[in-house]
Amino acid sequence: MHHVIIGNGIAGVSAAEAIRRIDPHSAITMIGDETEIPYCRPMISMVLEGALGPERLPIRGRDFYASLKISPLLGERVTALDTDARQVTIGEGRTISYDRLLIASGADPRPIKAEGCDLENIFFLRNQAQVRRMQAVLPDAREALVLGGGLVGFKAAYGLLRRGLKVTLVIRSGYPLSMQADETAGAMVLAELCRQGLDVRVGVEAIGFEGGTAVRRAHLSDGTQLACDLVVVGKGVLPAHSFVNRSQITVDLGIVVDAHMRTGAAHVFAAGDVAEAVDLARQTRWVNAIWPEAVAQGRLAGQNMAGRSVAGTGSLGRNVIRIFDLDIMTGGIVSPEQEKGYEILQCHDPRSHTYRKMVFQCDRLVGVVMVNRIEQGGVLLSMIQGRIPVAIDKEKMLSPGFNYAQLLP
Ligand SMILES: Cc1cc2nc3c(=O)[nH]c(=O)nc-3n(C[C@H](O)[C@H](O)[C@H](O)COP(=O)(O)OP(=O)(O)OC[C@H]3O[C@@H](n4cnc5c(N)ncnc54)[C@H](O)[C@@H]3O)c2cc1C
Repeated sequence: MHHVIIGNGIAGVSAAEAIRRIDPHSAITMIGDETEIPYCRPMISMVLEGALGPERLPIRGRDFYASLKISPLLGERVTALDTDARQVTIGEGRTISYDRLLIASGADPRPIKAEGCDLENIFFLRNQAQVRRMQAVLPDAREALVLGGGLVGFKAAYGLLRRGLKVTLVIRSGYPLSMQADETAGAMVLAELCRQGLDVRVGVEAIGFEGGTAVRRAHLSDGTQLACDLVVVGKGVLPAHSFVNRSQITVDLGIVVDAHMRTGAAHVFAAGDVAEAVDLARQTRWVNAIWPEAVAQGRLAGQNMAGRSVAGTGSLGRNVIRIFDLDIMTGGIVSPEQEKGYEILQCHDPRSHTYRKMVFQCDRLVGVVMVNRIEQGGVLLSMIQGRIPVAIDKEKMLSPGFNYAQLLP
C-alpha cells in the first residue's frame, strides 16, 4: 500500500501521523513545495513582527520524516493528477503512483486586480519565504499599506506597526473581521485599531499602484492617494487545487468531501484549507480555512486512508484572537439573514467593553460572538459542535457571570 500526501502543512502532517498510528508498514510519500520542516503557519506574522525567530516556528522535530518512515519530496510541486491512472505528476513530468492519495495542498492568497500590482515590495503573507522577503525590505521601509481586514490583514498590520512603520489598513467592507465577526464587534475592533495608532480606511479598496520598479504610491477607490514603500495583501485565500482535473474530482470553491474526507474519486481524500466539507452550523458545504479544522480533517482523512471507517461530524468556523487590548471569540453563523428564522440575542456594554451575541436556530445555538471575558467561550463552541439543545430561558445566557458549563449534558 502506497499513501501519497500532497502538502506538508498541518493537514498533511496530521494525516501522516494518523496513518502511522494505525499502519506501521505502508509506504508514505509526502510532496511539498516548501522545504522547511512542518511549522506553525499562523505564527509567521510574529516573525515579521520581530517577536519570534523563525527557529521557533517548527511544530515537529527535524526527525519528523525519518521517525515516521515517510519519504519526503520537498521543494517539489504537483502539477497534475490523473485519478484513472492513480498517478500524480511532479514538475515537468515525473509521475508517482498511489494506492491512496490525500490532497492537503492548503490555500493560496486571493490575488488582487489592480494596476501596478506586480511592482516590487507588494507582498502576500502565507509562508516563511514571503516573510523573509518582507524582512529584507523592512530596514528601508517607512510607510506600509495593508489590504484586507481579516485575520491575515490584521496580523500583518500589527506586525508592521510593531516594527515602527506607519501603517494604513485598507478594508473594502464597512468594518474589520467582517468574515469572522459581526458589525458591533467589528466597530469595537475598528475603534481599538485606531486607538493603537493604525490609520484604518473602511469601505474602500486599492485600485492601482505606481512606482519605478518598487511601489511608491497607492490609489484608493475613493480618489485618495497614499504614499507607501511596502504593501501586504491579505484579502483572504482560495483553495489550492489548480492541478485537479474537474472532470474527475468535484470542485466547488474547495474540493468537495464527504464525512470521511473522501472526494468523488476512488481512493482520493482531501483535508484542510483545500477541502469543502459540511459546516456544522450552516448544515451546508463550506470551506473553513482555519488551523484546528486542518488538524481534525487531516487526522480523519489519515484514519480512513489507513482502512478505518471514521465519519466526522462536520466542520465549524471559529476563531479566538487578541487585538491589542480586545479578546475576540467567534464561531458558527455570526451575521445570519433575518428571514431565515434565526433568533438573535445580543448585549453590548460599552462601559465594560464587553459584547455577547448568540444566534439560535430553534433550540440550538448556531453562532456566537464574544468580545472580552471570553473565558467560557469554549463551552459555547462545544454546544454548537455537539448540537446540544438549550433547555433554559435563552436570555439568561447573556447575563454577566452566567456559568455556561451547566448547559452541557
Ligand atoms: C498569516 C496567517 C495567520 C493565520 N492565523 C490563523 C489563526 O489565527 N487561526 C487559525 O485557525 N488559522 C490561521 N491561519 C490559517 C491556518 O494557517 C491554515 O488554516 C492552516 O495552515 C491550513 O493548513 P493546511 O495543511 O490545510 O494548508 P497549508 O498550511 O497551506 O499547507 C499546504 C502545503 O501544501 C503546499 N502545496 C500547495 N500546493 C502544492 C502543490 N501543487 N504541490 C506541492 N505542495 C503544494 C503549500 O505550499 C503548503 O506548504 C493563518 C494563516 C496565515 C497565513
